Amino acid sequence: MLLTSLANVRYLTGFTGSNAVMLVLPGEAIFFTDPRYAIQSGREVTCRRRVAKGPILAAVAAMAAAQRLRRVGFEPAHLSYEAYDKLRSNMPLNTSLEPVSGWLEALRMLKSETEIALIRRSVAANSKAFERAARRIRPGMRESELAAEIDHQMRRLGAEKPSFETIVAAGERSALPHARPTGAVLKPRQLLLIDMGAFLDGYASDMTRMLFLGVPGPQVKRLYRAVREAQLAAIDAVRPGVTAAQVDRRARQVLKTYKLERTFVHSTGHGLGLEIHELPRIGKKDQTPLAAGMAITIEPGVYLEGVGGIRIEDTVVVTSTGCEVLTPTSKELRLL
Ligand code: ZN
Ligand code: ZN
Repeated sequence: MLLTSLANVRYLTGFTGSNAVMLVLPGEAIFFTDPRYAIQSGREVTCRRRVAKGPILAAVAAMAAAQRLRRVGFEPAHLSYEAYDKLRSNMPLNTSLEPVSGWLEALRMLKSETEIALIRRSVAANSKAFERAARRIRPGMRESELAAEIDHQMRRLGAEKPSFETIVAAGERSALPHARPTGAVLKPRQLLLIDMGAFLDGYASDMTRMLFLGVPGPQVKRLYRAVREAQLAAIDAVRPGVTAAQVDRRARQVLKTYKLERTFVHSTGHGLGLEIHELPRIGKKDQTPLAAGMAITIEPGVYLEGVGGIRIEDTVVVTSTGCEVLTPTSKELRLL
């Protein structure tokens, strides 16, 4: 099996660089990187190691030939067509290349104690960064300034980087679930959506909180109540044996009682770990039974064009009896 997903390579070896692949053979694994990572990989990687002078995949093909491999699996989601083409042309003709999806990703769903401890630290740092940045919010500040402040605070708290592009969306723009921060200025009587996460020691956190500049009216209060109720109900449904789809359905059922289910346009959550989006997907179609050790987000939301959007997101870990919410930040609508 040829692994070209860097997250998979990191999962197996601890390698934190940006260019490496692995060839996993029965009884042996071989790590390949380029000369820039010769020193670093020597410190991080304990399995057999090859530092390729030329293209890495050519070195893999040469190894496959030397080992007389007949069948080699590859990760179709992590190998470009161009790279596949190069690999194919360097491989012996009688070696077949076969796509194999989700093999390690399925194993990665279940986090070890060490991984959960790392996610916990990432979540704690992320929440702390939120508190520090939230104290600095003032009307007149730009979305992009606030996003920069959030990212700055994360890094001061030890994060390598945000686990995704920080979302800061004010007013009507909060109705865009994946809004990119703009030069728009924060104004009084506006909703403010902040969705942020950090990578700390390689592990992701993810949280969405809502703020309001001033005192919200009845419509915002009602929307907020609906989403909070949906989020709490979904969290309450999380326990081993319950499927991801069932958790998703719980959130939708609550929003239905508010006639808001049509405005919930994404899935209820996702696994996270070395990547911000991992399996399982807490969505309508994912029949994965939850199991102790999974780390997932719960993040229902409602989005009304011309009004705004509300999402509340926590990172939780499935335990033997239910789940533990790792996110320490208050879930109340924060008034500024
Ligand atoms: Zn998020
Ligand atoms: Zn998320």
